[in-house]
Amino acid sequence: MYSIKLLSPAGDLQKGKIAIDYGADSVYIGYPGFSLRATNTSLDEIKKLTEYAHERGKTVIAALNIIPRNNDITRFKELISSIKYLGIDGVIISDIALIEITRKKYPDIHITVSTQANLTNYKTIKFYEKNFNINRVVLARELTIDEVKKIREKVSIELESFVHGAVCMAYSGRCLLSSFLTNKKLGMTHIKYADNYTRYSNLGECVQPCRFKFALVEENRKDIMFPIEEDSFGTYILSAKDLCLINRLKEMYDAGITTFKIEGRMKSIYYIANITRVYRKGLDLMIKGEKMPENYKNEVFNVSHRGYTEGFLFNEKEKTNVSYSGYITNYRFHALIKEKIEANSYKIEVFNSFTDDKEIEIIGPDMINIILRPGEYELYTSGKEKVKRVFHGNTEFFIKTSVPLKENYIIRIKK
Ligand code: SF4
Repeated sequence: MYSIKLLSPAGDLQKGKIAIDYGADSVYIGYPGFSLRATNTSLDEIKKLTEYAHERGKTVIAALNIIPRNNDITRFKELISSIKYLGIDGVIISDIALIEITRKKYPDIHITVSTQANLTNYKTIKFYEKNFNINRVVLARELTIDEVKKIREKVSIELESFVHGAVCMAYSGRCLLSSFLTNKKLGMTHIKYADNYTRYSNLGECVQPCRFKFALVEENRKDIMFPIEEDSFGTYILSAKDLCLINRLKEMYDAGITTFKIEGRMKSIYYIANITRVYRKGLDLMIKGEKMPENYKNEVFNVSHRGYTEGFLFNEKEKTNVSYSGYITNYRFHALIKEKIEANSYKIEVFNSFTDDKEIEIIGPDMINIILRPGEYELYTSGKEKVKRVFHGNTEFFIKTSVPLKENYIIRIKK
């Protein structure tokens, strides 16, 4: 009934363009003060991203999914008045009042109800549909696949589900750990992140204390941390593994999900590019009825993650959802190909320093992976001076390669 869509995160303009180039049908971007991820995005950036997307037949959704306080209502009315003129294709909102304001102002704008609304049953979804004529819901991550099927039988609007990315140890997004641990007034002065500014997860500024490595502190010896040994890796009692449903796309589609969403607006462009291309390939092969090769699927292990789980959707036991380590990845992200200068010569944006004696791997959309050994590429400054090392900063660097590359290809190095 609805076309299959891959929805990727756009933490900013650059990340949004990368997500589109690597296969997203649609990207979602926040606006300061209204988004569940901290962002500095300006209206001008959203406009530019929308133009970039539309030129390529893709769409942009504005994520305005905070839990608003009184003061936010007037600000929201002002924002929503201007945001439609940017050409955006839809909004993601969680709060019922903000949905009502938006629907009254724009009877035909595409509205998605956010996962923050914790939609876990068909009756609630029908309520939103009947009263606000909403177009799509992001199903709660806490549902099982059978519950999704039941919802599909009862409602006719689009169903969206997360397929990849970080999850909360609380009911998605409804958590006060960050605001508690960063609030000086509550006496949390010994916590590294505590300052005069409280970091609210429900305003997109979560410091993710659930991922911290916990220790025991005695009241009179606050400087001494006694390890609590959950196991040899330490103690991560609250840290959930990341969601990964690359093996379940067909089952999700058969259950009625048509929008497949990747979490990660705060992640690097490398993460967004690689995960987007994996799921693009997965969905394309699923439509053709073909199996995804293992080496394509295994790319999910080549970005930073905390171990993977298939979460509640496939009834994995809660106890196996806990990550017993910090972040893991097989690769480090180093640079982005910015611009072709001449044949096989490109300007690069360096994110992490690297030297010309390393084997580098270049990834591109459509699962392109190119390995270049030392000698198969050279590094230069803008003055065409050959250098052994390039680094992050204001200096411009260039790469000459033995094979042609394209703008927005990414350089990574195996750890
Ligand atoms: S602290 Fe963890 S569980 Fe709580 S909102 Fe942040 S990421 Fe989610």
